[in-house]
Amino acid sequence: FLEIKDVHKRFGYLEVLRGVDMSVNEHQVVCLIGPSGCGKSTLLRCINGLEPIQGGEIKLEGDRVSGPGVDVNRLRREVGIVFQSFNLFPHMSVIENVTLSPTKVLGFSKAEAREKAMALLSRIGLEAKANEYPDRLSGGQQQRVAIVRALAVEPKLMLLDEITSALDPELVSEVLNIVRDLAGQGMTMLLATHEMGFAREVASKVCFLYDGVVHEEGPPEKIFGNPEHERTRAFLKRII
Ligand code: ATP
Ligand code: MG
Repeated sequence: FLEIKDVHKRFGYLEVLRGVDMSVNEHQVVCLIGPSGCGKSTLLRCINGLEPIQGGEIKLEGDRVSGPGVDVNRLRREVGIVFQSFNLFPHMSVIENVTLSPTKVLGFSKAEAREKAMALLSRIGLEAKANEYPDRLSGGQQQRVAIVRALAVEPKLMLLDEITSALDPELVSEVLNIVRDLAGQGMTMLLATHEMGFAREVASKVCFLYDGVVHEEGPPEKIFGNPEHERTRAFLKRII
C-alpha cells in the first residue's frame, strides 16, 4: 500500500535518512519508534510531500509520490497528517477548520462539508464546540479536532506524528481512544510515537529507526518482548 524504498534525506550536510526501507499494508497500523532526532518526523513529512527527498522512492498504491511531476494536491488529499503541536488555524472556528479542505480541495458545497464535519465532530463528542475557536479548547480537544480535520478529506492513509506528546497526561487517553477507534475501523496508519504501551497494543508492526535506517522491525511482541539487535534493546531499556 505504502512502499518506501532506499529513501535518502539530507539537510545540508546532515544526512538524516540514509536508505530507509519500509512498507505499510492496507489496514495496518505501523508504529515508528526511535530516539529523538533519528528522523521520524522527517520521514513522515517526506511521505506527505512536505519535504523533498534526495534518493530512493516512495509509492502509494503503486504510484510514485516522491520526486518530480508528482501531483501534490492529490497526495495531500489521500494522505492525512497530524502533528505534535495542534496546528489548527487559530482565527477559524472548529467547524471552519474542519470544513476548509473539503470545500477547497474536494469541492464539497458548504452545506455538504458542514454536515460531514458535524458527523465527525459528534463521533468524537465535540459537536457542541463547533463554533468555538481553538484557544477555547483543551489541548486534547484541539488534537481531536486536528485528527477530525485530517479525516474530513477521507484520506487513504493517516500519518500521526507524536500526537500525544504535547498533552497533559490526563488528556492523552482521549486522543489515543480516537486512534484506537480508527484502527478498529481499518484505517491505514503510520504513527511516530513515544507511547510504547500504546504501540504494543495497536501496532501491526513496529519499526525502529536508528542511524538513518530501519534498524529493526517486526510485530510488537517481538520488538518489545525479544528484540534482536543491541541498539533496539538499549533504546527500549531507556524509554520504558
Ligand atoms: P523527535 O523524537 O525529537 O521528534 P525525530 O525523530 O522526529 O525526533 P526529526 O525531527 O525528523 O527527528 O529530525 C531529524 C534530524 O533532522 C534532526 O537532527 C534535526 O535537527 C534535523 N532537521 C529536521 N528538520 C530540519 C530542517 N528543516 N532543517 C535542518 N535540519 C532539520
Ligand atoms: Mg519528531
